This record gives sequence, C-alpha cells and structure tokens, in this order.
Amino acid sequence: MTHDEDAPRFVSYAVRDGTAWIMLDRPQYSNAQNYRLLNQLDGCFRAAVEDDAVKVIVLGGEGKHFSAGHDLGTPDKDTLFERERVNLWWNHTDKEGAERQYVLEQDAYLGLCRRWAAIPKPAIAMVQGACIAGGLMLAWVCDMIVASDDAFFQDPVLRMSQPGVEYFAHAFELPPRIAREFLYLGQRMSADRAYQYGMVNRVVPRAELRDTVAEIAAEIGSKSRLGLALTKQAVNFVEDLRGKRTAMDGVFHMHHFAHAQNQLATGNLVGGVDLKTMAAANKGEQ
Ligand code: ZN
Repeated sequence: MTHDEDAPRFVSYAVRDGTAWIMLDRPQYSNAQNYRLLNQLDGCFRAAVEDDAVKVIVLGGEGKHFSAGHDLGTPDKDTLFERERVNLWWNHTDKEGAERQYVLEQDAYLGLCRRWAAIPKPAIAMVQGACIAGGLMLAWVCDMIVASDDAFFQDPVLRMSQPGVEYFAHAFELPPRIAREFLYLGQRMSADRAYQYGMVNRVVPRAELRDTVAEIAAEIGSKSRLGLALTKQAVNFVEDLRGKRTAMDGVFHMHHFAHAQNQLATGNLVGGVDLKTMAAANKGEQ
C-alpha cells in the first residue's frame, strides 16, 4: 500500500471462506471517512480483486455505526498528507479557489466510488447504525445492502446548500418522489422503510447481521467467478443506460457550483456547517 504503510490503520482486511471482509475501523469517530481511510479502503478492494481465493467482498464498519460520512473535523481530518491519486487527478492541497475541492472530490469521492462500483466481484454492504451522507456512497457502490434493524440512512447536506452528496445515486436508489423527500427533509430513513423501496435487500436483527451476510456471501461465492463478474457488469450496464453515469456527472457539477457559492458567500465551502452543528441537526426520522 505505497507510502502510507506506516500510517494508522483505519480499515481492516481479512479473508475467510472465499469472502473478503473489509471493515472500516475508526469506531471512535463513527467510521468518518478521511481520505487516508479512503486510500486504505481502495487498497483493500484491490487486494480482494487480485486474490483468486476471494469470490465476494463484504464492506462493513466496526462499532455502533457503519459510517457517519466524510470527516467534518475529527483530529485526524485530512490536512497534512497527500492522498493517493489513483484516478490520476493532480495534487489538490496547494491549489486555490474552487479548484482545490473540485480536484479532491473528482478523485477521492466521485472517482473512487465509480472505481469501486465497477469492481468485478460482488460486494455486500453490511450496515448497522448510522449510514449518513458519505456513508451512503460506500453502501450504494456495493451490489447488495444488508442492514440491521437499527440501521438508518440519511443525507442531510442540503443544510450546507448542497444538492446531496457527491455520488448522486439518490434518485436511482429511491423512487424520485421519495428521493426528493429524503433530500429536502434530510431526515433519517429507517432500514425497514429503505427496504420497502428496494434500497436494502434484507433487514435482520443486529445480532444476526454478520451471520446473515456470511450466508449470502457463501451462496454467491459458490457461483463461477467470471459468471458473477459478467452478471455484475450486466446490471451496471443497464444502470448506465438509464443515465446513472450522465446524471451523476451533471449533479456533481451542481454540487461544485454550490461549494463555490458557499465559499464566495460565506468564506466556507460548506457554509460554516461543522461536525457539531451537523450532528445536532441530524436527529429525527422519516
Ligand atoms: Zn462536496
């Protein structure tokens, strides 16, 4: 894993019975994502793809929550180190104006998510507790989502005057009218409600989450590697024919118009919203 080898580990990786278990491992910060975590996650996905013994990938989070989203201000928030530039955008940290965030998000948010959605092995998101904003992005790039009954899904970034998180799959994952509600209100959607719309495949008691995921992974893993890869590509192909990729490109640029507007109008690219104000506002369920 390149120059980041000595860095603290924010993601764990283990292979058992043909399944790669990739676990976000920053539970003290609800698995908030800085780009060091994203770099490590990319390295784990790469390892899973390259290991012929791995047929299926599980992506989960240690602790109470799957992921509270992008890091808005923990002590390890990204400032001092360069990210891996797997998608070959240039370094963003020394750039000015809107370029800095645009380059970061093209590469580390939109770029990585697309790369992971195209991984030629089936992936299952195992979601408990909070799955908020950037957390949604990680769950959505997986092929299936298995949730515990205490899981909830939320994209509150309209509070930052942003039209949803950078990987804009909302109106593909949910019926358009529900996607509007999800975004306008920014409230928590329970796992049961997400299941009704087909955004979640199974909802199980928390104590049964890992075993259920392991069973599904084992069943998928009994199929042929190439057959699974072709099947995954087939569904991805249909989603793209429905305009998913094009829609995301369009919305990504609206998202960056909003970052630039925030910067111009308030001096802060998310309009001054920070970890505390966001956490306080994120209560409530729909
Ligand atoms: Zn953004």
